[in-house]
Amino acid sequence: MVPLLITMDLEIAKDHNTEEQKTILEKISFDLNKLHLPLSIFLTSDSLDLFKMHIHKLNSPDNVFGIHGIDHGFNENYKNLDEEIIRSNIDYAFYNICNSLCRSPESFRGPFMSTSSDTQKILTKKGIKSDFSVCSQRMDFMNSKGGDIRWLFSPRLPYHPSVKSPYRTGESPLWVVPLSCIGFPFISSVLYIFGLRFMKYFFRILMKESMITKKPIVYLFHSYEFTGDVYLNKSELNYPVSSFFHKFYISDVKKRYELNICLLKYMLSFDSVFPMNSSQYINYLERSSI
Ligand SMILES: [Zn+2]
Repeated sequence: MVPLLITMDLEIAKDHNTEEQKTILEKISFDLNKLHLPLSIFLTSDSLDLFKMHIHKLNSPDNVFGIHGIDHGFNENYKNLDEEIIRSNIDYAFYNICNSLCRSPESFRGPFMSTSSDTQKILTKKGIKSDFSVCSQRMDFMNSKGGDIRWLFSPRLPYHPSVKSPYRTGESPLWVVPLSCIGFPFISSVLYIFGLRFMKYFFRILMKESMITKKPIVYLFHSYEFTGDVYLNKSELNYPVSSFFHKFYISDVKKRYELNICLLKYMLSFDSVFPMNSSQYINYLERSSI
């Protein structure tokens, strides 16, 4: 059995059309529902405030919500933040999800895939069960602000982290569930650069590995990727926008969406693949590790 976790990061992208960022959520909700595909959604607090009505469409029993920070601002990098700020951010994001969606978040993914030992300590105290920020064996770690050279050596399978390092195994009750990577991360931007055939091949390699090691396959896309660009002037560019690799993406946003749907359908076409949300996966992991 190959556990498959489809994760979506939901943040406000100021360089993308805001209205479209709202309406795309309904389309994603509808199409994934049709595929019976549960989604793990990591959302920022400000997106929850701005897109509330649309996020409600995603609030089904199949989907779960995790914390993705406050506003994904340039400085919201959990590798560098002080313990006090981390605590107040996580408290705020936690209660915002509880109040707005009437359910509590059980997972975390830092903006820019950032995390730290302090962050994990605070998550654990808050009752959060998993951290999805680590990208074990992702070679382009320098391309992500939260990236860390220790990603290269962090465990490939889900692990309990050490209290001293989020990238090593230890005694913390939290689970780190790494993003699927083999040098490249298994994420939508790689799909937009290398195409569907490459991603299907990538998936088949991950699946072979999973059959042997039981490693879950974790895929990531962002909801804003399917919305039109807006051009910001220089003064507005204090916000993290396009990375260097952006230039090579397929620019047709409808095509991007179709490619993702094709890839998801392909992944689901294998009998051994079991789609799960992050909470279902942690329950499964805890049952099977007894
Ligand atoms: Zn993000």
